[in-house]
Amino acid sequence: MTQILQSTIECSCGNLIDLDLYNSVNMRVNPELRDKVKNRKINNYYCEKCGEENELSHPFLYVDGSQWILCFPEKLRSGKSEAEKQIAKSSDYDYLDTMGINRPKPVFGYGELFEELKNNGKI
Ligand SMILES: [Zn+2]
Repeated sequence: MTQILQSTIECSCGNLIDLDLYNSVNMRVNPELRDKVKNRKINNYYCEKCGEENELSHPFLYVDGSQWILCFPEKLRSGKSEAEKQIAKSSDYDYLDTMGINRPKPVFGYGELFEELKNNGKI
């Protein structure tokens, strides 16, 4: 269920960077990605032209058993309450309800993701 999308991202300097974007990472299916998450390397790019490093340039869904977390870029933090509303009403997650699994919790930036994982003893 780990989904990867080949993509090209435009850096603020105009440089185009090829990047594997993850839509979701499943820790049970792909445990090798745990280190990549810990090292902030999921959906992260480094621009060789201007040296800019951009953590979490694209949202991804982190799934570990019954723990589902939707990780958004830090810069989208102002949309937090909107994101919570969307997740609560989206029919995309109806199947989680039937499985008795909590809908994904939105977090913004790797720092908040790590806090959430720490609170759950996952890191
Ligand atoms: Zn650049």
